[in-house]
Amino acid sequence: MALRLREIEPDTDFRFVITPTGAELPPMEAHWRKLEGLLGKPLTVVSPGYSLMDLCRKQKMIPNFRARFCTRMLKIIPYLAWLQNQFPAVSYVGLRADEEGRTGMETDDLGLLLQTRFPLREWGWGICEVLGYLDKRGVTVPDRTDCDRCYHQTLHEWWVLWREYPERWASAVEDEERTRHTYRSEQRDTWPASLRELAKAFEERGEPKQRNRDRDTECKACRI
Ligand code: SF4
Repeated sequence: MALRLREIEPDTDFRFVITPTGAELPPMEAHWRKLEGLLGKPLTVVSPGYSLMDLCRKQKMIPNFRARFCTRMLKIIPYLAWLQNQFPAVSYVGLRADEEGRTGMETDDLGLLLQTRFPLREWGWGICEVLGYLDKRGVTVPDRTDCDRCYHQTLHEWWVLWREYPERWASAVEDEERTRHTYRSEQRDTWPASLRELAKAFEERGEPKQRNRDRDTECKACRI
């Protein structure tokens, strides 16, 4: 969305905002640097001034399926606070035309102070158009765009973290042992929930099967 907006409205002084949590993996950091080059200006970093790891220490808990406090505290609240200093403003949200169920941020009561627009929907762009455009611009979205220790990741993504980022893994184990909670859930997950036990299972059982999760990285029609 940002790349296309820049292309069709080169004279508009857009601010391109990201809300990092400090737990993104190196390919995501590299992706942001590449986007800065393509957009021709630095990304505006909006953050509460602490990372996901700091937040877990402060809250004495870790995020999980029942407590998704991380997104609210690290992304939504800081972004809304930043936005208030930009009023009147237009907030462009990158929800696609084929994501009808998603509503984005609730900002209706702000009237003329803040207008929210959904350019991809205005253009009728679904996953197919988005991937086709990215392909033309030579942009590949990293496999992981979320936090290294996100509770929402698949078992296979945990395995990749364990295999490729041992220091990140050790830090997530430390989070669990300090808070006495697990990112994964005994009830929902088949393999061991605790990361320490999960690492042993990876050693014994090897790479888990990669689920064909319905991730938005492939156009179902064109197979881009
Ligand atoms: S990616 Fe996961 S851990 Fe990170 S802020 Fe979002 S829900 Fe929380």
